[in-house]
Amino acid sequence: MTQQSYRLGDHGPAVAQIRDHLALLGLLDSEPAERTSSEWDAPFDQAVERAVRAFQQQRGLIADGIVGLSTWRQLDGARWSLGDRVLRYGTRHMQHGDDVAALQNRLHDLGFDPGRIDGIFGPDTERGLKELQRNLGIPADGLCGPVTFRSLDQLARTVVGGEPHRIREAERLHHRGPGLAGKVIVIDPGHGGPDAGICANGLSEADIVADLASRIEGRLGAVGVTAFLTRGTNPDTPAASEAERAAFANDVNADLVISIHTDGHDSRRAQGVATFYYGSSRTPATHSVIGETFADLVQREIVARTDLLDGHSDAKTWDMLQRTRMPAVRIDVGYLTHPGDAARLAEPALRDTIAGAVVVALQQLYQPTTDLRSNVVQLPTAVS
Ligand SMILES: [Zn+2]
Repeated sequence: MTQQSYRLGDHGPAVAQIRDHLALLGLLDSEPAERTSSEWDAPFDQAVERAVRAFQQQRGLIADGIVGLSTWRQLDGARWSLGDRVLRYGTRHMQHGDDVAALQNRLHDLGFDPGRIDGIFGPDTERGLKELQRNLGIPADGLCGPVTFRSLDQLARTVVGGEPHRIREAERLHHRGPGLAGKVIVIDPGHGGPDAGICANGLSEADIVADLASRIEGRLGAVGVTAFLTRGTNPDTPAASEAERAAFANDVNADLVISIHTDGHDSRRAQGVATFYYGSSRTPATHSVIGETFADLVQREIVARTDLLDGHSDAKTWDMLQRTRMPAVRIDVGYLTHPGDAARLAEPALRDTIAGAVVVALQQLYQPTTDLRSNVVQLPTAVS
């Protein structure tokens, strides 16, 4: 820009550029009727003014229809999407654009401080980017190029509002590649041996969950997953403690742990299915995002396929969830003390349906991630 601002009545090459940008954004018809061959004649007419106001409104700028420095910056930056060009901090000329804002939003979502989300690549953004790169295990050069784009792409979109350990968790989710095949899953049927768990309405928890575990194991084998069970079904073999089961999952380097229990309550009215993941409401920073995502998926699939009541999913700090180094989820598949739940769980067909729901939820969890660039991030605040 050669002058301070452009407004209604102006002409010239800068106006031609403004028109081009507005047309690119779909805010202005590309060719004005009176436009001649020379860009010196490009008019800042009423149609341009209307389009500028619309753009300013979208971006939270003062909608005065005048293109000053801040409006120009945003107009000029709107053509960039994250991944279009290499981003880096330059002391003389700072890059600006929607791609910078998208990177800043992404850093912020992942728990790194990019400074103000203003679409300008300044020293704070560089610092946040280097911190992210260190956590991803890629060269911390502060350069947002192909290596960083690829790593960002591989992060699950579900990882938001996080801490570094969540990023590592998401990385782990992907390091064996997308899809279920090749994953290692530990299935943990609760109790076992002399410990039968809840016993009510003629059923024992240890038996029900062992049956469910073997149904899930069979289905996982069919889709190329290596499944390990934390116990057998011999009633004479003492069952391992939760800490020992968690250590087992860590030893086999599992991708995910699924612990299965049934519930019981003094009130015969308590009923339904509930899922639990690692987390604490008192310290929200310690919380498994992948665990929560999978818990929600499992809960949704089981409730959709059975008539078990929806008991929702919740964060807990139980040993099995806390001591496992990978995401872990516990499913309580119903109340044996509830006559209706017990009658359902006594049916092999229903247990088979639950096993199917667990596998569908797993498939959804390990779906390849959507491309980062389709995740449109808008400039939230004005630069003015
Ligand atoms: Zn139990």
